[in-house]
Order: sequence, then C-alpha cells, then structure tokens
Amino acid sequence: HVNRTEEILASRSKLPIIPEEQVVMEQISDNIYVVLAGETGCGKTTQVPQFLYEAGYATEGKIIGITEPRRVAAISMAARVGKELSLTSEEVSFQIRFEGTASSKTLIKFMTDGVLLKEMGHDFLLKKYSVVCIDEAHERSLFTDILIGLLSRCVVARKKRNDPLKLVIMSATMRISDFMENNVLFKTKPGFVHIPARQFPVQIHFSKVTPINYVETAVKKVIQIHKKLPPGGILVFVTGQQEVLTIIKHLQRLCPNTEDPDESVNSNDKKGAWRKRGQKPLKSVNLDEVKRFPEEIEPGSDSDNSETEDVNIDVDTSNLEPLHVIPLYSMLPIEDQKKVFEPPPPGKRLCVVTTNVAETSVTIPSIRYVVDTGKVKDKLWDKVTGVQTFRILWCSKASAEQRAGRAGRIGPGHCYRLFSSAVFEHEFQEYSTPEIKARPVDDMVLLMKSMSIDQVKNFPYPTPPDDEQLQVAEELLLHLGALQRPQGARKGHPSTISPLGLTMSQLPVGPRFAKMLAMSFSHSLAEYMTLLAAAFTVQEVLLEAGGDKALEEKWTAVRKKWTGVGQSALLGDAKVLIRAAEAFEHDGGSPEFCIKMGLRHKAMVEIRKLRKQLTNNINILVENQKEIILNPKLKPPSDEEATLLRQIILSGSPDRVARKVQPDEVSGGEDQNKLKNAYKCGELEDLVYIHHASVLRRTKPSWIVYQEAFEINGKIYLRGVVAIEP
Ligand code: ADP
Ligand code: MG
Repeated sequence: HVNRTEEILASRSKLPIIPEEQVVMEQISDNIYVVLAGETGCGKTTQVPQFLYEAGYATEGKIIGITEPRRVAAISMAARVGKELSLTSEEVSFQIRFEGTASSKTLIKFMTDGVLLKEMGHDFLLKKYSVVCIDEAHERSLFTDILIGLLSRCVVARKKRNDPLKLVIMSATMRISDFMENNVLFKTKPGFVHIPARQFPVQIHFSKVTPINYVETAVKKVIQIHKKLPPGGILVFVTGQQEVLTIIKHLQRLCPNTEDPDESVNSNDKKGAWRKRGQKPLKSVNLDEVKRFPEEIEPGSDSDNSETEDVNIDVDTSNLEPLHVIPLYSMLPIEDQKKVFEPPPPGKRLCVVTTNVAETSVTIPSIRYVVDTGKVKDKLWDKVTGVQTFRILWCSKASAEQRAGRAGRIGPGHCYRLFSSAVFEHEFQEYSTPEIKARPVDDMVLLMKSMSIDQVKNFPYPTPPDDEQLQVAEELLLHLGALQRPQGARKGHPSTISPLGLTMSQLPVGPRFAKMLAMSFSHSLAEYMTLLAAAFTVQEVLLEAGGDKALEEKWTAVRKKWTGVGQSALLGDAKVLIRAAEAFEHDGGSPEFCIKMGLRHKAMVEIRKLRKQLTNNINILVENQKEIILNPKLKPPSDEEATLLRQIILSGSPDRVARKVQPDEVSGGEDQNKLKNAYKCGELEDLVYIHHASVLRRTKPSWIVYQEAFEINGKIYLRGVVAIEP
C-alpha cells in the first residue's frame, strides 16, 4: 500500500541496493544482528528503512529507528524517506538533540546517535522499536560505538523475552572487521550483506607540489575545471564552515552572479568589470599542474581567520560561464541543506563546497569532479590535562578514497587532489582514529554508570578506550560527586552513581555543566546557570580587536562596565556574558549593535537558542525542579548571588584551576615581562595565559577557574575565566 511517484520509482530503480532487497530482508529476518556494507550512494540510508517498513516492522505499535552521527543526515534523510513513501514528517520523523518532528504517529524515526543513547538510558530494552539501524558505523563516532556495544546486549535480552529487536549496522565498505571479527561484541557471527558497487571509474590527479594555502588553491582549481572541462557538478572538500563560506565568497566574486542569470550573458561586460577591479586575465593554466601560490600570501595559519583575506587568483577568469555555488555543512539551516539535492538552474554548473559531511553521509547527485584538499579539522585533546587544540590534519587514505568516489556516481569522473602522491603515501594514515580514542570520555562513563554499568572497563566496545582515559574520567566524576565508592573501599573498587550523578545524567550537557546546573537548582540560580552553560559552550563570543587600538579601547570599556565593581566583578567573563546577553535582548539583537559592543553576532544568536532549548529541556527532563523561567532581561546578580555563582562554577571545574605566577618564582632567563601575565595550572608544565578577550586579563586575580584551555601557536590560553581569589 505504498504510494511512490513515477519520479521516485525511476530514481529508486537505479540504486544498487534495490535488486538486493530480498537478500537484505532475509538476513535481517534470520539474524538478530546484521552488518550491511555498501559503497556510499548505493541506497542504504534511504532504502533500508523502506524495506523494513514494507516488511511490516512498523506495525503493532512498534517503530523503525535509524541513527546518524550527524544532524544534517538525520534531518535530510528523514525528509527524503518521507517523500519517497509519501508519508508525513511525523510518520517519518527526525529527532536531534533539541529539535524534532517525532510524535505518537511516528513509524520511522531518524535520530542522532546521542538521542538514542539517551533513550536507552530510560529504557534499556528500547521496547518501542522493532529494529534499530546504526548508520555510518564506519565513522566510528563515540556515541555510535557505545550504541553498538549496548545494542549487542540489548538484542540478546529482547530475544530472550520473545520480543526480538533487530540490529542493522550499516557501513561504507571500510574496516568491517572491527564489527564482523569482534567476538567480545557479537558472540555469534553477525549476518552479512555486501551490496556490490555501481561505481564508474574516477581518475585521480595528484598535485605535483602540495600547496601551502589549500583554500586559495581550491578556488583556483574550481575555476580551472569550470572553464575547461565538460559539464558536470563540482564537489569541493574543506575542513569547516568558515572555509566553506570563504571559498563560496570568492567563487561568487570571480564567477558571474549566481542570482541574476541575465547578468552573465554578456561576457565582454564581465571582462570590463574585472579590469576595473584590477584583475587582468592571465594565460590559462594546465589543469594537472597546481602551482604554488605566490610567496607573499601568508599560509593559512588559522584557516578560520582567512575569511577577510583578499585572494589573488592567478587564473584566467574571463569568459566564465555561470556557476551555481552552494554550501553544505552540519550547522547549515535545514532549508538550505535541501538545496544540494535540487538540480541547478538551467545552464549553470553546480558547485557544492562542503565539509566531510558529503564524504559518506550525504550523496549529492550529478557530481563529476571532486576537488579534495585532503584536510580534516580535528579537535585534539591531551588525555591528562584536557588542553584542546583544533588542528587541520591530513584525512585518512580511506577518507580520500571515499571523497574521490563521489565523482563516479553518474559516469566516469575526475578527482583533483591538492596534495602530492608522495604526501599521500607517507603522511596519510590508513584509517582515521575512532573518536573514542581521541577525546575525554567523562560523559560516556557517567552515562554508563547511570545505566548501572559499573565495570566500564569490561564494556563490549568495538574498540576499547585506553585505561588512562577511563581513569581520568572516573576521577573527575568522583570529584564532581557524580560517582561514589562505598566507605573505606580501595582505590580500584568500581564506583557507582550517586543521587547527584543521577540528576546530572538527566541533563543535556556534559558532566561539568551538569554539576553546575544541578547545584544552581538548590540556590535558585538556575536562570543564571542555564544562560552561562549556553554562553560558555559557544565559541568566541567576545570579539578581538586584532591590533586596532581604538576598537580595543572601546570594547574594553564596554566589558569593564559590564563587569562592574566589588564582589560581582570577580565573576569576570561570566559577568560579562550575563550582561552581554541582557544587552543583546534589550537591543533586539541587531548585528550592528553586536559589533559596537564587541560581540560576535552569530555567537549571540546561538546562545539565545541554546539557552531557550536548555531551559525547556531542563523543565521537561528534570523532576522535582522548580520551573526555570526564561527571562530575556535577566538582572545582574547581587553580590551574594555572584559569590554563590563563583562557588558553583568552581564546583563544576575542580580540575580547571590556575594560579598566578609570582615574579620571583621562575628562575632567570625568562622574560619578566612575559611572566607578568602568566599562570600555572595543575598538571601542566607550560605556563598559561588568560585570553585577550577576558576582562580578568587586566586585573590578574591570584587564583582563577577557567572553562577551556586551548593552544594557539604554541601558547596555551584560558577562556571563560572567573576569579576564585582576587
Ligand atoms: P547510502 O546510504 O548507501 O550512501 P543513500 O540512501 O544516502 O545511499 O542515497 C541513495 C541515493 O538517493 C543517492 O543517489 C542520493 O543522491 C539520493 N538521495 C538521497 N537523498 C536525496 C534527496 N533528498 N533528494 C534527492 N535524492 C536524494
Ligand atoms: Mg548513507
């Protein structure tokens, strides 16, 4: 009784998974767990839920669940499957952390892996599901790994109760052995289906030289392809939202206007326009030869700052045909995400600039050319100290293969790699490291303990974390009071969750903020704390003047005023953020106002959104808690409240404390001027510094607590700073 339109039927019939429907469904019916491997684009995500639906898995009050590591995928795939089945957005719904369309009418639910994890916290047996598909398992996100571990036990328990739950692990064809050959995870071998690829050959073009500035090189490459090569979409891979937007800005500047098709007709005019702007058309460039960029252009040290850089593209931009340039990244609004699936306007070539979202989770039709920078942005953590760094690294060989493969969906394609074959051979890892090995796991340990999994070491991980990671996490949770050990128990004795820990595990934030929020409930300071949890989570709220003295003075004056005097001034950055949020709401939140006050507008909008979502969620999730009022015009805290807030913030960050270095403390040789601003914190050997945007950088309290330590150019800075002692 499924109604599919002619158009849907036609596009469906071309997918490699369609002829395999029976094989797939037999495996699922014969096994409680099945691994389904198939090249990206073969139809796993969009078709398997439909197979299950048609086979009756969404009847008798049960539903079909699919998890995605990325929000983009959860949203866009729910929309697509709903459309293919002609069902409503409630029937085929999505659910991400704070947003969703799921209801009692839901039959198929796409969600982020974090959402299903939370559900397992309430109902380990996932009784309302008949089947759960874990999508993109090869990405090895922390939550996906944990879900697979939990579900490996859950399906066995459900089988015993004669109410079977099916687990389908869907993955691109890489490193399947981590699941298939893992007998800690699956005691019996999982069912297995491999969907044969229907992939056209993709010719790989390495660069002779690896360019320093890959953002500029990517722009140049797109122009070259667009100018010289036959029709076909271009897909560009970069590392983050900012790079996506930078490239798009340049392409829009270089290519005829994308909005007004008439404007691009007369190419003579265009040439004139370029001359006026001082761009002289150059000789065309051999496509396979990516030249090194002129030396005077600074290599992108922090690519996120390249936004305003004026790129000097030494490539012939005359006679360019129109180009339809669109972005794709995780945080893009839902409506804009859908645009990547729409055909470009007639006569225009499609160019999608994306992060690694398009590597395996979203397949964009009509791509023939891939431009791969070979880069990925990774958040690196020091396992012991928690110092985090964003690094732009080479992606893995497996990722590069996936990216190249995107060019071979509709016909033979080309992949232009902006790195040399030698770099690829010697500097690229085979596979990327599973996330569980590369970040702190305190949220994971809290979740497990809240589910009474006390021996976290023995959990059936697809890849286990290091013992050290588990120890650090457990120590922190003990310090926070989220875990407890019986009186007199020895150090190795497994800890269990405390009542406070249980409350913390209900909150939709990490353990540190969860502790602060839980503490704030009992002092009626929840309104301040929800705001601060939101504000501390958002990156770079306070703008930096970047050498502009006049601007710096202006912004410093604003921040000084917001900080105030006396006890409440010791709240430092927290006070500034509380006042900034109030001022932002009072003004109506215009971008001009933000610039004037030294605030990043997008960050303020994000804080507003997060704060609202947090407030709503706490009101729903946490029992016995007085309702939190969302008050846009929150008054500054009284001196007494400010003191309590400082104590609460400290209680949530017991290991993020730093002490001012005394002038005579460090023996000679050190530049005394440098030491004036230096702090020392716990485990860290290096000196650390309060970030320039922080108000406490001027007053330099003797003891501080911070929210984040991060490294820029070898120097460690602290953000979200509050004074403990003046
Ligand atoms: P896999 O999960 O195996 O990588 P998908 O099921 O995501 O494959 O994609 C199958 C096909 O469906 C791809 O060709 C993709 O382009 C197409 N597709 C997915 N979403 C949409 C959409 N919203 N609009 C049009 N086509 C789509
Ligand atoms: Mg998929």
